[in-house]
Amino acid sequence: MLAGQRLEVETPHPRAAVKQLSERLDGLLLESVEAVGKNLLLRFEGGLVLRSHLRMTGRWRVEPRGSTRVGRPWLVLRGEEHEAVLWNGPVLELDRDGAAVTRRLGPDILASPPDVAAMLERFRAAPAEREVGDALLDQRLVSGIGNIWKAESLWDARVSPWRLLADVTDDELAAVLESAHVKMRTSVDGTRTLRHVYRRAGRACRRCGTVIRSHGQGDAARVAYWCPGCQRGGREPQL
Ligand SMILES: [Zn+2]
Repeated sequence: MLAGQRLEVETPHPRAAVKQLSERLDGLLLESVEAVGKNLLLRFEGGLVLRSHLRMTGRWRVEPRGSTRVGRPWLVLRGEEHEAVLWNGPVLELDRDGAAVTRRLGPDILASPPDVAAMLERFRAAPAEREVGDALLDQRLVSGIGNIWKAESLWDARVSPWRLLADVTDDELAAVLESAHVKMRTSVDGTRTLRHVYRRAGRACRRCGTVIRSHGQGDAARVAYWCPGCQRGGREPQL
């Protein structure tokens, strides 16, 4: 809706303001908008690409220009008739080389069919001592897997999030990725599915009855959920 226009760019939220996006983007022509998994790539003239990853809470809304609103959105892109407003702490990155941004993103988990072989290649090129649960959220390896689907697909394939990439076979990894694809496609189609581990810490595993656990994982300490009974191995955190 805004592509092809010169935009006024504001960053009302202080955490977005520090990135100086308005200084760098205001007045530039927005050439195109592309979705890759949960990433939205906004290409501006001069080869600048803004990547926004929505995680769980981020939302873009398109409103008539000049709409009143309560609160501080991260980003406002204002065109002639409409403005796109980004709410709630997403990942925002600005890069000068558009091709590099796309190249750095892993294959899209929602693609039909998903390119599992290309994903495996990227996982195998990553440090082998990385935990598989952490690696699944790395957008450079596969783009679009959110924290819910990380937890559910690992449970589905009986792989512990704490196992190291070195100890997970290609077949196991492919099973996790295939499961994430199927679950996420189903979710995109609007079908609600039963959750097995996500936000079920302290409750019994529907498969084996063991009590589900949760613990922060990775640098961002996103919460991992797993069943210690049917997802064994790895450096499981102590109780
Ligand atoms: Zn279990």
